Amino acid sequence: MTVNSDWTYAPAPEQVDPGIAERHRLFIDGRFISSRGRRTFETANPATEAVLSECDEANAADVDAAVAAARAAFRKWSRTRPQERAKHLYRIARRIQERSRELAVLETMDGGKPIRESRDVDLPLVAQHFFHNAGWCDKLKYAFPGATDPKPIGVCAQVIPWNFPLLMLAWKIAPALACGNTVVLKPAETTPLTALRFAEICEECELPKGVVNIVTGAGETGRLLVEHPDVDKIAFTGSTEVGKRIAASAAGTGKRLTLELGGKSPNIVFADASIDQAIEGIVQGIWFNQGHVCCAGSRLLVQESVLSEVITKLERRLSTLRVGDPLDKNTDVGAINSGGQLETIRDYLERGRAEGATMHEPNGAALPEKGHWCRPCFLSGVQPSHVVAREEIFGPVLAVMSFRTPEEAISRANDTRFGLAAGVWTDKGSKIFEIASRLQAGVVWLNTYNRFDATSPFGGVKESGFGREGGLHGLRGYLSL
Ligand code: NAP
Ligand code: MG
Repeated sequence: MTVNSDWTYAPAPEQVDPGIAERHRLFIDGRFISSRGRRTFETANPATEAVLSECDEANAADVDAAVAAARAAFRKWSRTRPQERAKHLYRIARRIQERSRELAVLETMDGGKPIRESRDVDLPLVAQHFFHNAGWCDKLKYAFPGATDPKPIGVCAQVIPWNFPLLMLAWKIAPALACGNTVVLKPAETTPLTALRFAEICEECELPKGVVNIVTGAGETGRLLVEHPDVDKIAFTGSTEVGKRIAASAAGTGKRLTLELGGKSPNIVFADASIDQAIEGIVQGIWFNQGHVCCAGSRLLVQESVLSEVITKLERRLSTLRVGDPLDKNTDVGAINSGGQLETIRDYLERGRAEGATMHEPNGAALPEKGHWCRPCFLSGVQPSHVVAREEIFGPVLAVMSFRTPEEAISRANDTRFGLAAGVWTDKGSKIFEIASRLQAGVVWLNTYNRFDATSPFGGVKESGFGREGGLHGLRGYLSL
């Protein structure tokens, strides 16, 4: 994944100690307070299994309090002058840049992703989303010509997953606040720490109390939040399964809803592509962030005449990836986010083998004794009907298939219930536009993969969800137009 280097502001994070408190509380109405239920859960470092901290698990009374705080804050924040809102968002963006070393290390420790990714991809993008949305605050009526007076929606319930904890927070909180809404956000149970550190930044930047509230907990806390009757808008990023449940519960309530869900994205390599360049794109597409990426290019479709060349080159490249300590700046592939996720990945590998696919695991890196690890690998000889070709594995596992003609490539690429992203590799300009226009995917990358920018909308079609995040399109979900 790449990002415009202009946004890489902070110096490289040597192994800074992010100073993790033993106990973390909920952030409600501008204060860190204990859960009324007094229940807690532990968050661990998936690379070492060491417990990092104990966090409060928000119950129904806590969610009530957070929504009430957001409601009260909405009355003022929605009427705050847009320039004033922008000032807060710019401050937050700058503070994120200033504290980005610490945030990158914390993200890597809590979630397992390589520090190089937290430092060079996640954190720069997080800051960029706040800068980008700060700029929109006082331009909303020009952004949507015809809508004379765009209004915020109200209290937003935001639930995010563990693969890009701080980045998903930025995608959600920055546009919501820019449009004059207030927020209650629930991070994932395995990665709550950067959201709580973000709460500290809100305090430092004197964001009015109640505008942002962070409630930690597991799925039940998320359910209580999205089903709360005083919520006006739900923004959810996570699995298709949970997304469907949320959509069912929101039906008929009048709540606005956007869903960013799972994917099984095709990465299509034509024989006329620059194969070496495509190999790098395939690596970026599936082994970035251990494959814990909703838009991962997890189905590789290769034109038959270059299939054996691609497999040989992939094996060679895969053997050079450095797997291990996520805090080492030379690491390419870090730890799997949780023991549960590792089990899921192993089950899929078993099913792939049982269905007749061939396993390629050329990377012989010695894995640490503790922690959750899966070597980057791929399965060849996969048929479109195989489970590993149809279901999201969400791990460092690529399913390789072949095709003969462009027609077959398109029909195989679209043969999925998902529609989040797709990649096309070819040297022929005309083919690029023809194929791209026929792929059922929210995002199509051409001769690149996993490229992100705060100005570009992102989101899915089919069972990958609806609504867009990022850019001008991302504001629509937070306004009554
Ligand atoms: P998940 O199980 O759906 O969880 C996502 C979030 O929802 C977590 O905070 C989770 O809490 C919470 N949650 C669980 N059950 C809930 C319920 N009934 N009501 C409300 N909230 C509930 O997904 P995940 O396994 O963490 O994340 C991986 C999935 O996210 C993948 O399918 C991936 O494709 C998708 N994803 C999509 C995008 C995108 O932009 N389209 C981006 C990233 C990830 P706990 O974690 O604490 O249980
Ligand atoms: Mg953790």
